[in-house]
Amino acid sequence: MKYNRCGKSGLLLPQISLGLWHNFGSVDSFENAESIAKVAFDKGITHFDLANNYGPVPGSAETNFGTILKNNFQGNLRDEIVITTKAGYTMWDGPYGDWGSRKYLLSSLDQSLKRMNLEYVDIFYSHRFDPETPLEETMMALDYAVRSGKALYAGISNYNPEQTREATEILKRLGTPCLIHQVKYSMFVRTPEEGLLDVLGEKGVGCIAFSPLAQGLLTDKYLNGIPENSRAHNPNGHLKEDEVSEDRIRKIIQLNDIAKERNQSLAQMALAWLLKDNRITSVLIGASSVGQLNNNIDSLQNLEFSPEELNGIESILK
Ligand code: NDP
Repeated sequence: MKYNRCGKSGLLLPQISLGLWHNFGSVDSFENAESIAKVAFDKGITHFDLANNYGPVPGSAETNFGTILKNNFQGNLRDEIVITTKAGYTMWDGPYGDWGSRKYLLSSLDQSLKRMNLEYVDIFYSHRFDPETPLEETMMALDYAVRSGKALYAGISNYNPEQTREATEILKRLGTPCLIHQVKYSMFVRTPEEGLLDVLGEKGVGCIAFSPLAQGLLTDKYLNGIPENSRAHNPNGHLKEDEVSEDRIRKIIQLNDIAKERNQSLAQMALAWLLKDNRITSVLIGASSVGQLNNNIDSLQNLEFSPEELNGIESILK
């Protein structure tokens, strides 16, 4: 594994990080989840990403991860891993379980720590911008989370370029720099290229790309339709069947041909394609099996692209 510096901070993150949004909930096989986390760490994936609402049921990914830590990561191993969590989407009923108030963020962080049985998380994120709450209040909650020792660093996710600029400036004034932005970015989702990556570069903020495989679309999984053991087929999955459109499949087939010429799987090429940009600190993958995880880690063996390959990819994506 190679480790990249996260923006202008002291923190290094692995080029590939593991997210626990799917496959780690109370509806999933605990043994499978535990194996994935163990193999990930053994291969140098030191960064595990969670959020209060990951499951289903919401909260259960954190509870399961707490058990995985207790079973496998005793003692000083806590000092070798970076654990992140977030608050910002709906977590509990009533006026205090959603969006970006200080009330929600700080009580949610306490709940997350309890579920994972941790004294602190490494990064605490505002999961989304809240148009109704003053941004100062949300950022002051992140600053407080760090000052109180419940988080080591602060991050934001799903903020647009202008919101990001303002958030980083407020955090800087408060004395808690914004470490990282977690953003949806893949061959199929190019929005960060429309200004966000520039703001992050200018402000010295790291960038971690979530859903880098477009939830599995950028793999060989859907070449021949929607298989039963896929996120698009799973009623708890966030990838909907109609997102596996004919146009998408046509592009996936063409991209897969380029990947084959590079002696890579499509998943490997899709991850390498993101990592070729040195503004990307890490790609934040999901995996439903140890086999997928290993396949994805092998992407690091070839991160180089020729101009012909890049042009070929662009003309398919157009
Ligand atoms: P990916 O785009 O990497 O999709 C992962 C899924 O793709 C797997 O669960 C599996 O699905 C399939 N897959 C993975 N590798 C392979 C392979 N080699 N071959 C075939 N299929 C494969 O990421 P996710 O969408 O899971 O997101 C990753 C993480 O990003 C989340 O866990 C979370 O931590 C974070 N995230 C953050 C968000 C935010 O708002 N900040 C929002 C969403 C995610 P299958 O079940 O089909 O096998």
